[in-house]
Amino acid sequence: MLNFKQTNIVFTILVLCLYITLKTYLFIWLPLLLLLWITITTIGSFYMRWNFFIKAKHCNYNINKKTVAITFDDGPNIEFTPKVLALLKKHQAQATFFCIGKNIEKHPDLIKQIIAQNHTVGNHSYIHANNYGFLKTKELIKDITKTQKLLNNINQTKNTLFRPPFGVTNPNIAKAIKKLDLQTIGWSIRSYDTIAKDANKVIAKITTNLQSGDIILLHDTSALSVLILEQLLQWLEKENYTSISVDKLLNS
Ligand SMILES: [Zn+2]
Repeated sequence: MLNFKQTNIVFTILVLCLYITLKTYLFIWLPLLLLLWITITTIGSFYMRWNFFIKAKHCNYNINKKTVAITFDDGPNIEFTPKVLALLKKHQAQATFFCIGKNIEKHPDLIKQIIAQNHTVGNHSYIHANNYGFLKTKELIKDITKTQKLLNNINQTKNTLFRPPFGVTNPNIAKAIKKLDLQTIGWSIRSYDTIAKDANKVIAKITTNLQSGDIILLHDTSALSVLILEQLLQWLEKENYTSISVDKLLNS
């Protein structure tokens, strides 16, 4: 798949070629091309696996052990993060928590607990607002830096991992991440646990095509997610899979 820069080059060449050959039909092909460009860049914004704006890591299929990385977004959550931690401990699994800055501020002890259990924490923005994709580069840098400071004040190891809210990327987010020298982490298996109703269906969906090196996206924000995690950990144990943190999975 072409990235944003390559797509723009292709479209510029296409416009020039068509302008030279089809000058009189400009009013037909120009809007059509524009529509196609908008469609491609919109899909590129929402589908992080295209690496359209940012080269993110979504998996590590070079790993030669039966290993996956479970990740949790949107915490820490006073009610559910402790339950998630207890389950991970029970099953001797390691995971990665992409935390929202305003939640870290409210519950710094939960971050300490996550780190004490040898899990990894990552930056998931400070505000995690619905308009995140519309913020300017300057605002994004300020937002991400705020969470970096919170994490780095608690953790002795400097955080290098970032997961964009909603998995949305665009040129401004790309510039901010580049400026802050962070590694963007995506996922290869999305559970949709925040909108699901039935844990069994989610588990079936996760495990059907699961393979070593996958990064699984869950949330430590609901009772259903905790139930899904419990069943997933049991399944992984039965199938002899180990769950490790994202940084370890990517460096294996
Ligand atoms: Zn999120």
